[in-house]
Amino acid sequence: MAKKNSIAIVVHGGAGPDSDHIHENKKAYEKGLQDAVDAGYLVLEEGGTAVDAVDAAVKKLEDNPLFNAGRGSALNANGEVEMDAAIMRGSDQSSGAVALVRNIRNPISLAKAVMLNTKYRFLGDMGALEYAKKIDIRMEPASYFITEHQFDLFSKKREEEFTSSDRIGLDELNARMHGTVGAVALDREGMVAAATSTGGIENKKIGRIGDSCIVGVGCYANNKTCAISGTGDGELLMKNIIAYDISALMEYKGMTLQQACETVVLERVKAEEGDVGVIGVDPQGNIALVFNSERMHRGWKTSARQQGIAIYLKK
Ligand code: ASP
Repeated sequence: MAKKNSIAIVVHGGAGPDSDHIHENKKAYEKGLQDAVDAGYLVLEEGGTAVDAVDAAVKKLEDNPLFNAGRGSALNANGEVEMDAAIMRGSDQSSGAVALVRNIRNPISLAKAVMLNTKYRFLGDMGALEYAKKIDIRMEPASYFITEHQFDLFSKKREEEFTSSDRIGLDELNARMHGTVGAVALDREGMVAAATSTGGIENKKIGRIGDSCIVGVGCYANNKTCAISGTGDGELLMKNIIAYDISALMEYKGMTLQQACETVVLERVKAEEGDVGVIGVDPQGNIALVFNSERMHRGWKTSARQQGIAIYLKK
């Protein structure tokens, strides 16, 4: 394959409604995003693969308690953490995903191991845990994952829902906080990759699996088109097969990455209630960061000298 020179990394830390918590911790959020961008970019600069770059960036965000992935994950209705993650590379469409995992410090690394070292693409629950133990993935006690902030959100939500039904209504959708994390990258060999990791949504029903670990929805990569990581209301992303739809618009309609992201996020889901955000990169090094929500935590750096960190539409 011909050597290509452009490299690029884009990260997100979730799209959704604004909150006091975000304002109070704005600087710390920005630093967390910058750390993730730097970790991913360093891998690319040193000639590493896009897969290793997105893994490195997402791990930083999983380890940061401010984001809803790894440490700091949202709590389910039982007050426990169940995490989902997926990774995909664009060179051959290999992917690895895990759902409903507990105690795994970095679910993205487990997803990567599934992609690289097993004949499967998706492991869930106890089987994923069993595999993690077998390959000596770093584990942590349940208490490691639970932050004061997430516990407060959980307690508040429990109180609010005490009298309501089990069904997820629109009010609840609107009230959701999103801090899912993701990264997309382009390496020197021209390969794109995507990774997404999440604790899901607060107070979710036990066993609920979101879009983040579903290839084609919250995560997708194809060297012919782009790599995409999504965030927002998982059920809405699943309904619209967000990530693959962006890729398909590029492949079959000849849209640019930016046009495809805007078509899907701003036009196609317009009539529906809910937040959607995506980050993307194409094999030429073009990047896109598009969301319909009040904010999307995001950061980017490319060899074409584009770089930045932002949370709101205007910084
Ligand atoms: N999409 C995630 C989920 O539904 C939540 C998020 O992006 O914050 O699990």
